[in-house]
Amino acid sequence: MSDCIFCKIIAKEIPGTIVYEDEYVVAFEDVNPQLPVHTLIVPREHYDHIGDDISPELLGKLFATVPLIAKMKGVDQTGYRVVVNTGEDGRQTVHHLHIHVLGGALMPIRMGPAD
Ligand code: AMP
Ligand code: ZN
Repeated sequence: MSDCIFCKIIAKEIPGTIVYEDEYVVAFEDVNPQLPVHTLIVPREHYDHIGDDISPELLGKLFATVPLIAKMKGVDQTGYRVVVNTGEDGRQTVHHLHIHVLGGALMPIRMGPAD
């Protein structure tokens, strides 16, 4: 996708702090971290969101990367949160499927009534 910022990071057309990549998956640091550890895991191929006809195999590869990143970032023992914002109500802002891995401090409790 030519106008997708994450496709551009994957293609190394714009800078990104890539911490892991393989044939299917790329992981890079979130530019606006919400916690000390905030890494995004994305499929190399563009999918808009988790419901965008992505194969179970690729979903498996994406989620199998979560514990790898958690270990790499040193939060595998302390715990972390995995988030996949989806669509408008999910407040997805970048429309290339991504998994947030958040940790390194106690998660602020922010779930509650919509604002
Ligand atoms: P979401 O709201 O789930 O769509 O999250 C999108 C995330 O992408 C946000 O946490 C942003 O801070 C992050 N983000 C946006 N642009 C970039 C970028 N160029 N490099 C890294 N992360 C980005
Ligand atoms: Zn994309």
